[in-house]
Amino acid sequence: MTRTTVEFIACPVCKHQSGFTTYQSINATLEPKLKQQLIDRELFKFYCLNCGEQRVVCYETLYHDMENRLMLYYIPAVVNREQEVARIEEMFSQIKQVEGDRYFNSLDSYNFRIVSDMESFIEKVQIFDAGYDDRVVELMKFVLAPKEEEDIQFSYDHMVFTKVGDDNYQFMFIDEKRAVASLKFSKEMYEHFELEYAPILDDQYFVDEAWAYRTVAKT
Ligand SMILES: [Zn+2]
Repeated sequence: MTRTTVEFIACPVCKHQSGFTTYQSINATLEPKLKQQLIDRELFKFYCLNCGEQRVVCYETLYHDMENRLMLYYIPAVVNREQEVARIEEMFSQIKQVEGDRYFNSLDSYNFRIVSDMESFIEKVQIFDAGYDDRVVELMKFVLAPKEEEDIQFSYDHMVFTKVGDDNYQFMFIDEKRAVASLKFSKEMYEHFELEYAPILDDQYFVDEAWAYRTVAKT
C-alpha cells in the first residue's frame, strides 16, 4: 500500500508556504508510475508555487516491490546506525507477521534491505527492477573495480549500477557526484558471478561495499 502525507514547507528563498507530499510507503507494483518518479527523484522534489524554487527534500520511506520481492527502507542519514537498524528490524519483523500470509508465501526468498543515501536507494530499485540480486551486483562492483591507479586514466569515488536506455545497464564511475566513465554490464557476466558466489551469499539488511568486502574475504 502507498501512504502519503501532505506537509506545508516554507520556501528557503521567498518563505512562501507550499504543499509537499511525502511518501511513508511506496508500492511499486500497485503503482508502477511511482517507481520512475522515484528514479527521477521527483518524489523528493519540493517546488515553490510562488517563486519556482526547487529543492530536494529527503525523508525516510519504505519501498515495496512485490513482483521482485523487495522491501527496501530508506533512511536519509544514519546517525546512530545500531539504533536505526534495530528500529527497522523491529518494523520488518512486524511487517513479516502482519503481511506474512498475504505477500510472503516463502519469506526466505524475500529481500529486506536498508539504505542510507539516495544514490544507493535508486540503485537498488533499478537492480531489483531488472530482476537482479543486489548482492551479486555489489560483488561485481567490488571485484571489477580497477584497483591500481595506473590501470585507468581517471579518478573516482565509487561505482553505481545504472539503467541506460530501455534495456541496457552499466556501471558508472562517480567522482564528486559526476559520472566520469562507465563499464559495460552484461547478463553473461552477472551469471558468471552468480554461479561463483551463490554458495556464500548471506542475507543482510545492509548490502554495500563493506558487505562485498567481507564476503570476498571469506573466499
Ligand atoms: Zn519561493
